[in-house]
Amino acid sequence: MLACETIPARGTENLEVVVSALTSVMQRLLASSPKSDRCRGIGFSFCGLVDSRRGRILSSNDKYSDAAGFDLAGWAQTEFNLPLRLENDARTALLGEWYAGAGRGSNDIVMLTLGTGVGGAAMIDGKLLRGKHFQAGCLGGHLGVNHKGRTCSCGNIGCVEAEASSWSLPAICAAHPLFEKSPLAALPGISFERLFQIAVNGDACALAVRDACIEVWAAGAVSMVHAYDPEVVILGGGVMSSAQKILPAISKYIDRHAWTPWGKVMTRAATLMDRASLIGVVPLFDTESQ
Ligand SMILES: [Zn+2]
Repeated sequence: MLACETIPARGTENLEVVVSALTSVMQRLLASSPKSDRCRGIGFSFCGLVDSRRGRILSSNDKYSDAAGFDLAGWAQTEFNLPLRLENDARTALLGEWYAGAGRGSNDIVMLTLGTGVGGAAMIDGKLLRGKHFQAGCLGGHLGVNHKGRTCSCGNIGCVEAEASSWSLPAICAAHPLFEKSPLAALPGISFERLFQIAVNGDACALAVRDACIEVWAAGAVSMVHAYDPEVVILGGGVMSSAQKILPAISKYIDRHAWTPWGKVMTRAATLMDRASLIGVVPLFDTESQ
Protein backbone atom coordinates (compact mmCIF):
# COMPACT_ATOMS: atom_id res chain seq x y z
CA MET A 1 0.00 0.00 0.00
CA LEU A 2 1.43 3.39 -1.01
CA ALA A 3 -0.51 5.57 1.41
CA CYS A 4 -3.55 5.33 3.63
CA GLU A 5 -5.58 7.76 5.69
CA THR A 6 -8.71 7.22 7.77
CA ILE A 7 -11.38 9.84 8.32
CA PRO A 8 -14.46 9.51 10.55
CA ALA A 9 -17.72 9.00 8.66
CA ARG A 10 -19.94 8.56 11.68
CA GLY A 11 -21.71 11.46 13.24
CA THR A 12 -22.77 12.96 9.95
CA GLU A 13 -26.06 12.38 8.19
CA ASN A 14 -24.86 14.07 5.07
CA LEU A 15 -22.89 12.29 2.34
CA GLU A 16 -21.94 15.61 0.75
CA VAL A 17 -19.99 16.49 3.92
CA VAL A 18 -18.15 13.14 3.81
CA VAL A 19 -17.38 13.46 0.10
CA SER A 20 -16.08 16.98 0.61
CA ALA A 21 -13.72 15.73 3.35
CA LEU A 22 -12.66 12.87 1.06
CA THR A 23 -11.84 15.32 -1.73
CA SER A 24 -9.27 17.20 0.33
CA VAL A 25 -7.71 14.03 1.81
CA MET A 26 -7.41 12.43 -1.63
CA GLN A 27 -5.93 15.57 -3.16
CA ARG A 28 -3.30 15.52 -0.42
CA LEU A 29 -2.56 11.79 -0.88
CA LEU A 30 -2.26 12.15 -4.64
CA ALA A 31 0.01 15.20 -4.30
CA SER A 32 2.34 13.33 -1.96
CA SER A 33 2.52 10.16 -4.06
CA PRO A 34 5.35 9.92 -6.61
CA LYS A 35 3.19 7.51 -8.64
CA SER A 36 -0.02 9.58 -8.74
CA ASP A 37 0.19 9.96 -12.54
CA ARG A 38 -0.34 6.19 -12.75
CA CYS A 39 -3.63 6.33 -10.81
CA ARG A 40 -6.21 4.41 -12.86
CA GLY A 41 -9.31 5.56 -11.04
CA ILE A 42 -11.26 5.80 -7.81
CA GLY A 43 -12.85 2.72 -6.24
CA PHE A 44 -15.79 3.57 -3.98
CA SER A 45 -17.33 1.02 -1.64
CA PHE A 46 -20.70 2.15 -0.23
CA CYS A 47 -23.05 0.81 2.46
CA GLY A 48 -26.23 0.67 0.37
CA LEU A 49 -27.71 -0.24 -2.98
CA VAL A 50 -25.74 1.22 -5.86
CA ASP A 51 -25.96 1.36 -9.65
CA SER A 52 -22.47 0.11 -10.37
CA ARG A 53 -22.86 0.75 -14.10
CA ARG A 54 -23.60 4.50 -13.79
CA GLY A 55 -21.72 5.12 -10.53
CA ARG A 56 -24.79 6.33 -8.66
CA ILE A 57 -26.20 5.49 -5.23
CA LEU A 58 -29.75 4.09 -5.36
CA SER A 59 -30.79 3.68 -1.71
CA SER A 60 -29.10 3.79 1.67
CA ASN A 61 -31.62 2.50 4.24
CA ASP A 62 -31.47 5.07 7.08
CA LYS A 63 -27.96 6.33 6.37
CA TYR A 64 -27.01 9.58 4.60
CA SER A 65 -30.32 11.19 3.69
CA ASP A 66 -28.81 12.84 0.59
CA ALA A 67 -27.23 9.62 -0.77
CA ALA A 68 -29.94 8.45 -3.22
CA GLY A 69 -29.11 9.78 -6.66
CA PHE A 70 -25.72 11.12 -5.53
CA ASP A 71 -23.57 11.36 -8.65
CA LEU A 72 -20.27 9.95 -7.42
CA ALA A 73 -19.02 9.26 -10.95
CA GLY A 74 -19.56 12.94 -11.77
CA TRP A 75 -17.70 13.95 -8.60
CA ALA A 76 -14.67 11.79 -9.49
CA GLN A 77 -14.59 13.21 -13.02
CA THR A 78 -14.95 16.85 -11.94
CA GLU A 79 -12.57 16.80 -8.98
CA PHE A 80 -9.93 14.32 -10.16
CA ASN A 81 -10.54 13.69 -13.87
CA LEU A 82 -10.60 9.98 -13.03
CA PRO A 83 -13.08 7.18 -13.71
CA LEU A 84 -14.95 5.79 -10.69
CA ARG A 85 -16.03 2.26 -9.90
CA LEU A 86 -18.82 2.20 -7.32
CA GLU A 87 -19.95 -0.98 -5.59
CA ASN A 88 -21.88 -2.12 -2.53
CA ASP A 89 -19.58 -2.62 0.48
CA ALA A 90 -20.42 -6.29 1.12
CA ARG A 91 -19.70 -7.03 -2.54
CA THR A 92 -16.32 -5.30 -2.38
CA ALA A 93 -15.57 -7.20 0.85
CA LEU A 94 -16.31 -10.46 -0.97
CA LEU A 95 -14.18 -9.36 -3.93
CA GLY A 96 -11.30 -8.53 -1.56
CA GLU A 97 -11.50 -11.92 0.16
CA TRP A 98 -11.72 -13.63 -3.26
CA TYR A 99 -8.72 -11.68 -4.57
CA ALA A 100 -6.42 -11.88 -1.56
CA GLY A 101 -8.11 -13.48 1.45
CA ALA A 102 -10.31 -16.35 2.66
CA GLY A 103 -11.89 -16.90 -0.77
CA ARG A 104 -8.68 -17.42 -2.75
CA GLY A 105 -8.87 -20.48 -4.97
CA SER A 106 -12.66 -20.52 -5.19
CA ASN A 107 -14.99 -18.82 -7.69
CA ASP A 108 -18.28 -19.69 -5.99
CA ILE A 109 -18.59 -17.78 -2.74
CA VAL A 110 -21.20 -16.15 -0.55
CA MET A 111 -20.33 -13.71 2.19
CA LEU A 112 -22.16 -12.31 5.19
CA THR A 113 -20.71 -9.30 6.99
CA LEU A 114 -21.91 -9.13 10.58
CA GLY A 115 -21.82 -5.67 12.13
CA THR A 116 -24.06 -2.63 12.62
CA GLY A 117 -26.23 -4.24 9.94
CA VAL A 118 -25.70 -7.50 8.08
CA GLY A 119 -24.36 -7.33 4.54
CA GLY A 120 -24.50 -10.03 1.92
CA ALA A 121 -22.82 -10.79 -1.39
CA ALA A 122 -22.61 -13.65 -3.84
CA MET A 123 -20.12 -14.66 -6.52
CA ILE A 124 -21.04 -17.35 -9.04
CA ASP A 125 -18.44 -18.81 -11.40
CA GLY A 126 -16.01 -15.97 -10.64
CA LYS A 127 -18.51 -13.14 -11.31
CA LEU A 128 -20.12 -10.90 -8.72
CA LEU A 129 -23.89 -11.31 -8.76
CA ARG A 130 -25.61 -7.93 -9.28
CA GLY A 131 -29.01 -8.49 -10.93
CA LYS A 132 -31.34 -6.25 -12.95
CA HIS A 133 -31.82 -3.70 -10.16
CA PHE A 134 -28.40 -4.24 -8.52
CA GLN A 135 -30.02 -6.00 -5.54
CA ALA A 136 -29.00 -9.60 -6.19
CA GLY A 137 -27.05 -11.24 -3.39
CA CYS A 138 -26.47 -8.09 -1.38
CA LEU A 139 -29.68 -8.28 0.66
CA GLY A 140 -28.42 -11.25 2.70
CA GLY A 141 -29.09 -9.27 5.87
CA HIS A 142 -32.70 -8.86 4.78
CA LEU A 143 -33.50 -12.51 4.19
CA GLY A 144 -36.44 -13.37 6.42
CA VAL A 145 -35.62 -15.84 9.19
CA ASN A 146 -38.70 -15.19 11.37
CA HIS A 147 -41.95 -14.18 9.69
CA LYS A 148 -43.46 -13.28 13.08
CA GLY A 149 -40.35 -11.44 14.20
CA ARG A 150 -39.15 -7.88 14.56
CA THR A 151 -39.90 -5.17 12.04
CA CYS A 152 -36.76 -4.29 10.11
CA SER A 153 -35.59 -0.86 8.97
CA CYS A 154 -36.05 -2.08 5.37
CA GLY A 155 -39.80 -2.63 5.80
CA ASN A 156 -39.70 -6.43 5.98
CA ILE A 157 -40.37 -8.51 9.11
CA GLY A 158 -37.91 -10.86 10.82
CA CYS A 159 -34.88 -10.08 8.64
CA VAL A 160 -31.50 -11.45 9.72
CA GLU A 161 -30.36 -7.99 10.78
CA ALA A 162 -33.61 -7.19 12.62
CA GLU A 163 -33.14 -10.42 14.60
CA ALA A 164 -29.34 -10.21 15.12
CA SER A 165 -27.20 -7.16 14.42
CA SER A 166 -25.58 -4.35 16.39
CA TRP A 167 -28.46 -1.92 15.74
CA SER A 168 -31.13 -4.37 16.90
CA LEU A 169 -29.13 -5.92 19.77
CA PRO A 170 -30.15 -3.50 22.57
CA ALA A 171 -33.87 -4.06 21.86
CA ILE A 172 -33.39 -7.84 21.58
CA CYS A 173 -31.64 -7.93 24.99
CA ALA A 174 -34.22 -5.64 26.61
CA ALA A 175 -37.03 -7.95 25.47
CA HIS A 176 -35.49 -11.01 27.16
CA PRO A 177 -37.35 -12.02 30.38
CA LEU A 178 -34.08 -12.16 32.39
CA PHE A 179 -32.73 -8.81 31.16
CA GLU A 180 -33.44 -6.78 34.32
CA LYS A 181 -31.33 -9.21 36.40
CA SER A 182 -28.51 -9.34 33.86
CA PRO A 183 -25.32 -7.21 33.99
CA LEU A 184 -26.34 -6.20 30.46
CA ALA A 185 -29.04 -3.94 31.97
CA ALA A 186 -26.36 -1.82 33.69
CA LEU A 187 -24.40 -1.08 30.52
CA PRO A 188 -24.70 2.35 28.88
CA GLY A 189 -24.82 0.61 25.50
CA ILE A 190 -24.83 -3.06 24.48
CA SER A 191 -22.35 -4.26 21.87
CA PHE A 192 -21.70 -7.82 20.70
CA GLU A 193 -18.22 -7.57 22.21
CA ARG A 194 -19.70 -6.93 25.67
CA LEU A 195 -22.47 -9.51 25.13
CA PHE A 196 -19.92 -12.22 24.33
CA GLN A 197 -17.78 -11.25 27.37
CA ILE A 198 -20.75 -11.38 29.73
CA ALA A 199 -21.99 -14.67 28.23
CA VAL A 200 -18.60 -16.29 28.94
CA ASN A 201 -19.16 -15.49 32.63
CA GLY A 202 -22.35 -17.57 32.55
CA ASP A 203 -25.09 -14.90 32.56
CA ALA A 204 -28.27 -16.65 31.39
CA CYS A 205 -29.68 -13.68 29.46
CA ALA A 206 -26.41 -13.00 27.62
CA LEU A 207 -25.97 -16.70 26.82
CA ALA A 208 -29.50 -17.00 25.43
CA VAL A 209 -29.24 -13.86 23.29
CA ARG A 210 -25.74 -14.80 22.04
CA ASP A 211 -26.83 -18.30 21.01
CA ALA A 212 -30.03 -17.03 19.40
CA CYS A 213 -28.05 -14.48 17.35
CA ILE A 214 -25.60 -17.15 16.18
CA GLU A 215 -28.56 -19.29 15.05
CA VAL A 216 -30.06 -16.34 13.17
CA TRP A 217 -26.79 -15.78 11.28
CA ALA A 218 -26.53 -19.51 10.60
CA ALA A 219 -30.11 -19.64 9.26
CA GLY A 220 -29.27 -16.66 7.02
CA ALA A 221 -26.15 -18.46 5.81
CA VAL A 222 -28.16 -21.59 4.95
CA SER A 223 -30.57 -19.43 2.91
CA MET A 224 -27.59 -17.90 1.10
CA VAL A 225 -26.31 -21.43 0.37
CA HIS A 226 -29.71 -22.53 -0.94
CA ALA A 227 -30.06 -19.39 -3.08
CA TYR A 228 -26.57 -19.13 -4.61
CA ASP A 229 -24.97 -22.61 -4.54
CA PRO A 230 -21.51 -21.64 -3.23
CA GLU A 231 -18.67 -23.89 -2.16
CA VAL A 232 -17.41 -21.38 0.41
CA VAL A 233 -19.29 -19.23 2.94
CA ILE A 234 -17.20 -16.36 4.32
CA LEU A 235 -18.20 -14.57 7.50
CA GLY A 236 -16.78 -11.11 8.07
CA GLY A 237 -17.57 -7.84 9.84
CA GLY A 238 -16.69 -6.47 13.27
CA VAL A 239 -18.68 -9.12 15.16
CA MET A 240 -16.23 -11.74 13.85
CA SER A 241 -13.70 -10.60 16.45
CA SER A 242 -15.49 -13.39 18.38
CA ALA A 243 -14.91 -15.85 15.50
CA GLN A 244 -13.76 -18.73 17.76
CA LYS A 245 -17.26 -18.91 19.19
CA ILE A 246 -19.25 -18.02 16.06
CA LEU A 247 -17.51 -19.94 13.26
CA PRO A 248 -17.74 -23.55 14.57
CA ALA A 249 -21.41 -23.08 15.57
CA ILE A 250 -22.40 -21.68 12.15
CA SER A 251 -20.36 -24.31 10.33
CA LYS A 252 -22.11 -27.09 12.30
CA TYR A 253 -25.56 -25.56 11.62
CA ILE A 254 -24.86 -25.34 7.87
CA ASP A 255 -23.60 -28.95 7.80
CA ARG A 256 -26.76 -30.06 9.54
CA HIS A 257 -29.36 -27.97 7.70
CA ALA A 258 -28.15 -27.05 4.20
CA TRP A 259 -29.33 -29.24 1.33
CA THR A 260 -26.07 -29.87 -0.52
CA PRO A 261 -26.03 -33.44 -1.86
CA TRP A 262 -22.74 -32.72 -3.65
CA GLY A 263 -20.81 -32.37 -0.35
CA LYS A 264 -20.05 -29.89 2.44
CA VAL A 265 -19.87 -26.12 2.13
CA MET A 266 -16.66 -24.71 3.61
CA THR A 267 -17.30 -22.02 6.24
CA ARG A 268 -14.44 -19.59 6.79
CA ALA A 269 -13.77 -16.40 8.72
CA ALA A 270 -12.74 -13.40 6.63
CA THR A 271 -9.01 -12.77 6.87
CA LEU A 272 -8.71 -9.20 5.57
CA MET A 273 -11.32 -7.67 7.93
CA ASP A 274 -11.29 -3.84 7.61
CA ARG A 275 -9.09 -3.96 4.52
CA ALA A 276 -11.32 -6.35 2.52
CA SER A 277 -13.33 -3.61 0.79
CA LEU A 278 -10.21 -1.52 0.22
CA ILE A 279 -8.53 -4.42 -1.59
CA GLY A 280 -11.80 -5.47 -3.21
CA VAL A 281 -12.11 -2.36 -5.35
CA VAL A 282 -8.90 -3.32 -7.19
CA PRO A 283 -10.48 -6.13 -9.26
CA LEU A 284 -13.34 -3.76 -10.19
CA PHE A 285 -10.89 -2.10 -12.58
CA ASP A 286 -10.21 -5.42 -14.28
CA THR A 287 -13.06 -5.42 -16.81
CA GLU A 288 -12.19 -8.98 -17.83
CA SER A 289 -13.00 -10.32 -14.35
CA GLN A 290 -15.69 -7.92 -13.06
ZN1 LIG B 1 -34.71 -5.97 6.48
